[in-house]
Amino acid sequence: MSKTKKKIKVIKIDVDKCNGCRACEMICSAFHASPKYSSNNPQRSRIRLIRDPINDKYLPVYAGEYTASECKGRDKYVIDGKEYAECDFCRASCPSRDLFKEPDSGLPLKCDMCEDEEEPLCVTWCLAKALVYEEREEEREEEPVLGEVETGLEALVNKHGLQKVVDTVARLSKKG
Ligand code: SF4
Ligand code: SF4
Repeated sequence: MSKTKKKIKVIKIDVDKCNGCRACEMICSAFHASPKYSSNNPQRSRIRLIRDPINDKYLPVYAGEYTASECKGRDKYVIDGKEYAECDFCRASCPSRDLFKEPDSGLPLKCDMCEDEEEPLCVTWCLAKALVYEEREEEREEEPVLGEVETGLEALVNKHGLQKVVDTVARLSKKG
């Protein structure tokens, strides 16, 4: 099997350096406005601040995958004596909360690493250096591309089960 190189983009978040200024939310929402930079609405941002100054908690969270149903169980993190609320670290756009939903359409939001920008804009605008961008290359096995017949057979097996497909092919081959 052949191998391909894949670029992995990483933003390292140093929670201790974040001062809650929300510059990251501002630039992300402006970059994703239509037209670009025409407005600034943090609700449109793909990074959101979980912000609790009284308890000295500033947690930047990036929008990840959409999920149609909320979790049945919840996690609670306690770090350095600070107790975070359930779901604080979760990146999902999920029905249980308003986070990571486009305010006009309600469609889920997901961080796209600022498309083709040289560096993610939230990183550039974070003067506290709480966000640091890194890139690396990884070698991956290339997934075999299924042919038309294989794809069709796979769908039939998923629907009817392998044995039924095998029996049918055997019956058809006797006819032919
Ligand atoms: S990387 Fe770009 S899209 Fe993702 S949160 Fe930062 S500014 Fe927004
Ligand atoms: S720009 Fe940096 S310091 Fe400001 S809220 Fe965002 S992550 Fe925190």
